Amino acid sequence: MNEPIPGIKESSRRTFLKGLSATPAIALASGESLLSQARPAPENAGNSPQNANAPAPFPPPGKKFVAMQIGARSFVDEGVDKCLDTLREKGGVNVVMATVFTYGTGLAGRQVQSEPLPDHGVQEYDRVHGGSFTKVHPEFYNDSVIKDIRAPELGDFDILADVVPKAKAKGMQTYALFEEAYNPRLIANFEKVCEVDVYGKLGRSTCFNNPHARSFISSMVSDWMTNNELDGLMWESERQGPLNSTLGAHFGTVAARRSSICCFCDFCIRKAKEIGIEGARAREGYIALDHWVSRTLSGPRVADGTFVSLWRVFLEYPEILAWERFWYTSQEEMYGVIYGTAKAINPRAQIGWHIMHLVTMSPFHAADTNYARLVHVSDYLKPSPYNNCAGPRFAQYIHNVQSTIFRDMTPDQVLDMHYKILGLEGEPTLDKLPTSGLSGASVGVETKRAIADVEGAIPIYPGIDIDIPTGLNEKRTQPSDVKAATLAAFHAGAPGVVLSRKYAEMKLTNIAGAGEALKELRYY
Ligand SMILES: [Zn+2]
Repeated sequence: MNEPIPGIKESSRRTFLKGLSATPAIALASGESLLSQARPAPENAGNSPQNANAPAPFPPPGKKFVAMQIGARSFVDEGVDKCLDTLREKGGVNVVMATVFTYGTGLAGRQVQSEPLPDHGVQEYDRVHGGSFTKVHPEFYNDSVIKDIRAPELGDFDILADVVPKAKAKGMQTYALFEEAYNPRLIANFEKVCEVDVYGKLGRSTCFNNPHARSFISSMVSDWMTNNELDGLMWESERQGPLNSTLGAHFGTVAARRSSICCFCDFCIRKAKEIGIEGARAREGYIALDHWVSRTLSGPRVADGTFVSLWRVFLEYPEILAWERFWYTSQEEMYGVIYGTAKAINPRAQIGWHIMHLVTMSPFHAADTNYARLVHVSDYLKPSPYNNCAGPRFAQYIHNVQSTIFRDMTPDQVLDMHYKILGLEGEPTLDKLPTSGLSGASVGVETKRAIADVEGAIPIYPGIDIDIPTGLNEKRTQPSDVKAATLAAFHAGAPGVVLSRKYAEMKLTNIAGAGEALKELRYY
């Protein structure tokens, strides 16, 4: 996908740039204007010198973009060449999405400890310390308050330097994959880059508006892009704004919501003030909303009904919605910072975003995550319609929102309403959902929605769920599930897929389901 992609609308790009001209100084990273970080219009891209000698398009005509997310541990355990050969032979993979930075277990390490070990790799569980799985070049971190991030567990193994040349030799591309999974205890100075919640407590992730956080993330991106011949980059910002978090509109526990009512740090308060949002009122509103959630979860139903009482909180504090919008537009700006940093170093690299699974369940999160707006700071998008683990996850989400926003309805009614809003038909009832998962067809529904939203301006590579952990008595991935989801993505018009979450947790027999779909469609 190195060719310029036709179809981006110049009028909407102008609107975006106009919006940026109002961006306050605090929003800018390392003194660089976001204006230079927007995606160029196709006519300019087509005439630029770097496109005059553009390499052959990837993937070659008649083939599809088939990526695999994979951590350094797998390469160390199984050998780089052998891993790459296995990916290609089993799954028809031609793009390696290599986890270069995380402190989490979703993209790094072996199988998570609650799950059976798969049919490959070292048959023992490990512990993930995490950090950077590639060499850290200190000269790129002069302006960053965070410097010491090298992951210690795999010695000198470098997931970029040791993999990129070998992948290239086999005709495969490499994208650096990283996410916002931090471990504050292990990162010196993390308190200088982190969010602050509505009660003043330090959060576990970075603040999008904190210049030190922007500088840290830009330093990493500059380091990786300068020192490696990367074909692309993918970042996972797996979180949502304070409104959805407070209401429990997710598949975690509602009780943990307080740690996620962010961000109210000084940088955010100051920036919001410049665009006319009063931070003190927003904070007051979120505390009122948090109290409303506590009362709703534990108290009797109020005479007016739960929904009416919630709407009154919104009417009393319109700043609640304003702060939610402020949060997700700040996230979009962070995408712009990464996009601009990477493209300035390698304009041909493809820069895009994993869009978390919740986007396929929560209409609230789907509304925040506007694919059409993201076109301006993306070369591709990876929505994640993970239909197998959607079984237990969607059921939990429904129970969460039924216990807060939709307490006037039964859980079954809430699920029916969501199916209608999301355009899903023939999916399981709530009692069967955790063990059945969603159909392969649901992958096609999200793929079509995303393609329609971006109007073909950028490619959509849906994530395919292969063995994403669920309870042992819940829906487990089968080869036929992977094949059906992959077929649905391609039938919906996707030019590629991303096999997710990580190779180390996938069974080879399930990866082969993707390979079978590709063979059936004659893409492999
Ligand atoms: Zn902040």
